[in-house]
Amino acid sequence: MNDRYLDFTHSPFGKTLASMLGLPTPPRLNRADAAWAAQGLAGAHVLVGGDRAAQLSQPLLAALTASGAQLRIVPEHAGLPPLKAAAATLKLALAGNPGPASGEAPNRAIVFDASGLSSPAQMRELYDFLQPLVRGLVSNGRIVLLSRAPDAADSVGAKTMATALRGFMRALAKEVGKNGSTCNLLEIAAGADSAIEAPLHFFLSPHSAYVSGQSLRITAARGQPVALAGSLAGRSALVTGAARGIGAAIAEVLAREGAQIIGVDHPSQEGALGETMARVGGRGLALDVTAADAAQRIAAEAGGLDVVVHNAGVTRDKMLRNMSAQHWDMVLNINLAAILDINEGLLKRGLNEGARVVCISSIGGIGGNAGQTNYASTKAGVIGYVDAMAPAFAKRGGAINAVAPGFIETQMTAAMPMGPREIGRRINSLSQGGLPQDIAEAVAFFSSPAAAGVNGQTLRVCGQNWFGA
Ligand code: NDP
Repeated sequence: MNDRYLDFTHSPFGKTLASMLGLPTPPRLNRADAAWAAQGLAGAHVLVGGDRAAQLSQPLLAALTASGAQLRIVPEHAGLPPLKAAAATLKLALAGNPGPASGEAPNRAIVFDASGLSSPAQMRELYDFLQPLVRGLVSNGRIVLLSRAPDAADSVGAKTMATALRGFMRALAKEVGKNGSTCNLLEIAAGADSAIEAPLHFFLSPHSAYVSGQSLRITAARGQPVALAGSLAGRSALVTGAARGIGAAIAEVLAREGAQIIGVDHPSQEGALGETMARVGGRGLALDVTAADAAQRIAAEAGGLDVVVHNAGVTRDKMLRNMSAQHWDMVLNINLAAILDINEGLLKRGLNEGARVVCISSIGGIGGNAGQTNYASTKAGVIGYVDAMAPAFAKRGGAINAVAPGFIETQMTAAMPMGPREIGRRINSLSQGGLPQDIAEAVAFFSSPAAAGVNGQTLRVCGQNWFGA
């Protein structure tokens, strides 16, 4: 469904009226219109900074250079020594930041390595670096912060500051969202320094246009890190609920990245499923995911799977006092029990070594909506499930993660009454609903072997929705 208000505020008359009345003007988001590029930041200027004890300068500069970024620094910045030492080791040139009046291309992104912070006084280094730069951030700009994961911090001070950084990142994301920019945090566990390239690429790219205010934990993974571009080529990917909406978008984006798609949907959706599969060059399997033999039928149809996306889901909303046992059971069975059962079956037969599983949760499972005790149970359950299953998948060289969508423009949200729909759209830092593509981009990232260091995580794709935050 079109966001008419967003379109209106970008017309000449609408812009003037919104400004006169002090109404919000949702920014237009630059979304990806092509597959992951081999050098996702080719030619883009990225300003790098860090604290004086930063530990990640070398992997950071190596990752940015591999993505094709042109590196810039602030010459008078106090945290330059680790960056300069890393640049010397890697034989890289660091250009001075030219400033807004120079006429040179502005910085597309700012990355700050805060992995050495261990006291509140040191956090001033972050303030001194970013404070003068925020005003000049381009629209659809990116800020990415790096820290050590708080649970891996080696001192009280380091843990305190790694957690302080989460608060800083969330607050800054709310400030910069007004011009379509995002701010996110990568928390790097010990031994995972070489795994930062793909998550950096994702967070700095248009593929993460609707992801803001989020932190992602990166852990060490088996094998050599690989780049995102080309990493899904020829892989077989199963998507449930693929006939329409978010599932169809997931099938499209995975196919765009080169995966062979098997789409599953309820037998009642066979026609729509066929149309979607024809678009993506995939095969359809009409199947109720709650069928007792669902895993066997999937394994028989698909052979070995590299990617499984559990997207099929339903809502049957009623206050608990009025909720029938039938609607309770239906939502629990489709949204949660089917995921557990199918995975259990596929872990025995049907998943290739290194397979990636992505489950679709919801911010409704984080914040809880009145009338959704059934739905919220399932969507919160998914978050606990991926966390609990992460070690089992890691042992096989794979990973299992979840994506929690916020308000997404689909048939489901188009059917909402106008008032709640408008509120749902606007209560996030980007003042608009997301598109099915936004969820699909995050799913594709998690599906890639390049995201090997991300396991057991739930990423909100919600424009930093205020709900449950
Ligand atoms: P849709 O209802 O548009 O699509 C879901 C698809 O899953 C439908 O084709 C549906 O078929 C199918 N499905 C339902 N039950 C089964 C079943 N038993 N077996 C096989 N297929 C089944 O949903 P969305 O695209 O909006 O949502 C996709 C996922 O994203 C869901 O898990 C949802 O909870 C989640 N989500 C969506 C949000 C949004 O804003 N849209 C927000 C947060 C989370 P049928 O028509 O027969 O039911």
